[in-house]
Amino acid sequence: MLHSFLVLLFGLGLTAARLTSETEIDVDEGRDWDIVDINEGAGLDLLEGDIKLEEPLTRNIIIGDKYRWPTTVPYYLEESLEMNAKGVILKAFDQYRLKTCIDFKPWKGEKNYISVFNGSGCFSYVGNQRVGKQQLSIGSYCDHLGIVEHEFLHALGFWHEQSRADRDDYVDIMWDQIKPDKKNNFKKHDDAVSTALGVPYDYGSVMHYGKMDFSIGSEPTIVTKIPQFMDVIGQRMGFSASDLTKLNRLYNCTSSSTFVDSCDFEEDNICGTIQGPGKAKWKRRSSVRGGPKTDFTNMGQCQGKGYFMHFSTSSAKTGHQAFLESRWLYPKPGVQCLQFFLYSTAAADDVLNIWVREYDQANANGKLKLFKSISGGVQGSWELQNVNLNVTKKARVVFQGVRGKRQSKGGFSLDDINLSSTKCPQHIWHIRNIKGQMAKTPPGKKLFSPRFLSTAGYSFQVGVYLNGLSSNPDYMALYLHLTSGPNDKKLKWPCPWQMATMALMDQQSDIRQQMNMHQMITTDPNKKSSDGTEFFWDDPRKVGSKVTDSDGSVYYRGPGYGTSTFITHSRLRSRNFIKGDDAIFLFSLEDISHLLKPQSLPHSALHADASLFKAADQGAPEEAVINPKMLGLLKAADQGTSQEVVINLNMLMLLKAADQSAPQEAVINPNMLMLLKAADQSAPQEAVINPNMLMLLKAADQSAPHEAVINLNMVGLITACVAAAVLVVSLVMIGNICGKKKGKGELSDDVLIIKHVPGSLEEYPTKGSFFTTP
Ligand SMILES: [Zn+2]
Repeated sequence: MLHSFLVLLFGLGLTAARLTSETEIDVDEGRDWDIVDINEGAGLDLLEGDIKLEEPLTRNIIIGDKYRWPTTVPYYLEESLEMNAKGVILKAFDQYRLKTCIDFKPWKGEKNYISVFNGSGCFSYVGNQRVGKQQLSIGSYCDHLGIVEHEFLHALGFWHEQSRADRDDYVDIMWDQIKPDKKNNFKKHDDAVSTALGVPYDYGSVMHYGKMDFSIGSEPTIVTKIPQFMDVIGQRMGFSASDLTKLNRLYNCTSSSTFVDSCDFEEDNICGTIQGPGKAKWKRRSSVRGGPKTDFTNMGQCQGKGYFMHFSTSSAKTGHQAFLESRWLYPKPGVQCLQFFLYSTAAADDVLNIWVREYDQANANGKLKLFKSISGGVQGSWELQNVNLNVTKKARVVFQGVRGKRQSKGGFSLDDINLSSTKCPQHIWHIRNIKGQMAKTPPGKKLFSPRFLSTAGYSFQVGVYLNGLSSNPDYMALYLHLTSGPNDKKLKWPCPWQMATMALMDQQSDIRQQMNMHQMITTDPNKKSSDGTEFFWDDPRKVGSKVTDSDGSVYYRGPGYGTSTFITHSRLRSRNFIKGDDAIFLFSLEDISHLLKPQSLPHSALHADASLFKAADQGAPEEAVINPKMLGLLKAADQGTSQEVVINLNMLMLLKAADQSAPQEAVINPNMLMLLKAADQSAPQEAVINPNMLMLLKAADQSAPHEAVINLNMVGLITACVAAAVLVVSLVMIGNICGKKKGKGELSDDVLIIKHVPGSLEEYPTKGSFFTTP
């Protein structure tokens, strides 16, 4: 890992040049890394590649309430996380909110919570382990939506799909192609301990391994019994329909928090939509003479199906209006996104207005609020429309068609309406005739989107290699470029912390079943060019190239940042990424600088009271707090006795807690001290020290060399960014560290990071008593 990183740096160094619009950085270094590859690269050796175990595998996990979380899961985003990872994690939570009843809330002191941190690699425990702080790692290269969804599915109680008890009916495991030391990753879980929740084997699960995982060479390790699923397994786009069914069954979900309504007009009841007053009406049609010839949902593929709603302005009189009103909806107050497909063959002065009719006591018949007016004019194709709404009460969505003065030959047609309590994507890039374009575009040729403006005012565009780079011709590649725009003089440069969400839309009619392929990247204002002379995200006039658009306009385009392995062509042809020979990209560029600030800690961690220590003393809580004063006492105690003590894991946890605490009046009692000393005599524990801690230790070491002993193994392991070590530190030294680190009696949060190393917890005799189960 380190080696390849150096090689990469060296390689870039050789070709170092000024940044131009041709410069491209691949966030995944040109490889389609799956979780297993990332973790192997990071030197991790976990069960099934990315599963941490608290206890022997024989325990059942998925069966039994004990391992379930409440449907609202408390989380804490650790400061160690990369900014882009934080943004991606929050987007993944949005997918859970939209498609399941699982919600995520910032940790407010609940007993059990998920601590998301930047470990080396992507991994999680399976199920709620009820250990208080349960770690889930989103390390480098793990910041992809599908990977984050995958790790959280582990945490929620799911194993890998190919470890199902019945998997041998569906896949062949190629044992002789698996690396010898990785064969145990392909074990099955007995159906006495793990349940498939009545859902058939799912090749498309986001929890399924890829065909090449743990391969010794270039041959697959998993061969699907039905050949056409070979390229389906291992998808990391997002939840499959079966993933959702299982999750919703496990947690008894009946609704989600942000989904509101979806309608494709296939059912005769037209989703409960009603018509307003007046002569002009919307009609349910499957074809209209002047177009559309088919609906959007089925594109005419299904006989006897395929409906949409049509308002014919050609048969209406000037000034006539037709209202199509949704049933009563009860969205969460706040922003909502209304998405629908519109096919317009209307005259230029015909108008489609999008209203919301809100009901309250003062407005028993509803009060109309206008959100968007779409002027007519023939479009001749189904076009995605995104409308941001802001509804706070019971409401209907109202589509009002208005006939203008000019002669019309058609009208407005609507299909595939979705409403959810989420923000709409900011921009749509509709690529027409994509199959034809792919047929004539060679690998290495880039197609650029129009330029768009972010809400903060930055101008950007996205470049897509339909047939990939010549180094990766089986993939579509995609890169974000900042471009010069109208606000550049007023904007901050280098562009700070704007997260781009680039999604290829799966044009399924129901938003809950869409498996859009996402790539997120974030502009880090400190990022330099490879030769260190320029800021990567600086003003495109400085770090870009002059470009002339097809319409003759001239602008500057900065360097590109993205991935050469966005989506394989085989996946691109799957689902509804291409529909009616069109592809649709959704783009947003959002300011995430608020995520620079650490997530605030819950009240309970800030104000622990002395009773916690008494409890600790009796072996109870995992969230005990040691304050500086207590450390002083320990230090004094320590000077009175031996110089060096071994700190075990629990002690480290206490110190970590201390490190997050405010000064506090607590008195250590003799029992507590005895407990610490006893702990100190137990087996040496394994712990990870982060680089900040190491620096502090070194500093401490220099100021008082006789008071600290770090063993050599540990230094070596830390350098290799790997986990285990025996930490032998004198408490006196810790007193020093804390003394140095604290200002006004407060300790910084980054002093200690503790990682549970497999095996270490079983070795620790008092573990059971330190972790309480409710
Ligand atoms: Zn996994």
